[in-house]
Amino acid sequence: MIGPTPYSSQQLANWLAERVGFEINVTFSRAMGQPVRGQRKGKQWELRLHRAFEQAPEDVLESLGRWLRNGRRSKQACERLDQWLEETIYSQRTPRKTARRSGKGEVYDLDDSARDLWDSFLESRLAPDQRPHLEWGQRQPSRSRGGLRLGSWDAHTNRVRLHPVLDDSKVPYWFVRTVLVHELLHAAYPPIRDRGGRWCPHHAEFRRQERAWPDHEKARAYEREHLPKLVRAARALGRR
Ligand SMILES: [Zn+2]
Repeated sequence: MIGPTPYSSQQLANWLAERVGFEINVTFSRAMGQPVRGQRKGKQWELRLHRAFEQAPEDVLESLGRWLRNGRRSKQACERLDQWLEETIYSQRTPRKTARRSGKGEVYDLDDSARDLWDSFLESRLAPDQRPHLEWGQRQPSRSRGGLRLGSWDAHTNRVRLHPVLDDSKVPYWFVRTVLVHELLHAAYPPIRDRGGRWCPHHAEFRRQERAWPDHEKARAYEREHLPKLVRAARALGRR
């Protein structure tokens, strides 16, 4: 863990430097135009970050580290960063301040959907007070062109959030539930560190549990087939 938020620029710089293998100098700013600005000067990175990074969840910082190491080649890391920036900075909210949203959507109720999982599929791994809060993300148009993050689990707030594009009668219930299960498994089988000290959210035990879910393969096929449609629908959200 990097430590309790807010992180100081020095803490964040040290934490990132350890992962990236360069010296890093971090300054925070409130400028909205470019929330992440990096300049490499020899062996040193000058990193200017929006203040919201003081409270960024750890997986976002991991993504930032991967982006520093590999640039745009880290497709997943870039997507995670983009998604988080969109949620927190572009909508002018910090994670702390976001009010809890409801799991009751227009079509699907996430609390209903999870009710039977706690004692069956999740085998009581999450005591009632450890169960994540379940919520739908805000119905607003996404800026994403390629991928789409259909769900997320925030370890700091223990919240599972599903993308509102799934709250649609055209999306099958079993698919929504499989996305929900994936995120709940993150809470039940939290990330572990690999031998290099890096956090792995999708470690072997996680994958094993995920494969044990009966609709897992079917859902992967569904996602492959329907992702472009979902991305388009997400871009049009709230405009209908
Ligand atoms: Zn995951």
